[in-house]
Amino acid sequence: MKVQVNANVCAGFGVCLGLCPEVFELHDDGYAIVLVSEVPPELEDAVRQAVSQCPSGAISLDPRPSGASRVQE
Ligand code: SF4
Repeated sequence: MKVQVNANVCAGFGVCLGLCPEVFELHDDGYAIVLVSEVPPELEDAVRQAVSQCPSGAISLDPRPSGASRVQE
């Protein structure tokens, strides 16, 4: 599973970082970035929680193991 944060939508609330700091980090410019290209299975539940609790709806999932989706690093 892949996860992406839309930096144009993210408002930097930091909810995702609190739920899953292994996957999300706050960029210096005030929006969240994704640290991993592929979410480890043991972190998928935490990432799904972040998706549902992000106040901006900035996080999206791609269930495919690989693909053309862009992941920020
Ligand atoms: S919870 Fe949503 S709005 Fe907040 S930092 Fe994470 S992606 Fe951005």
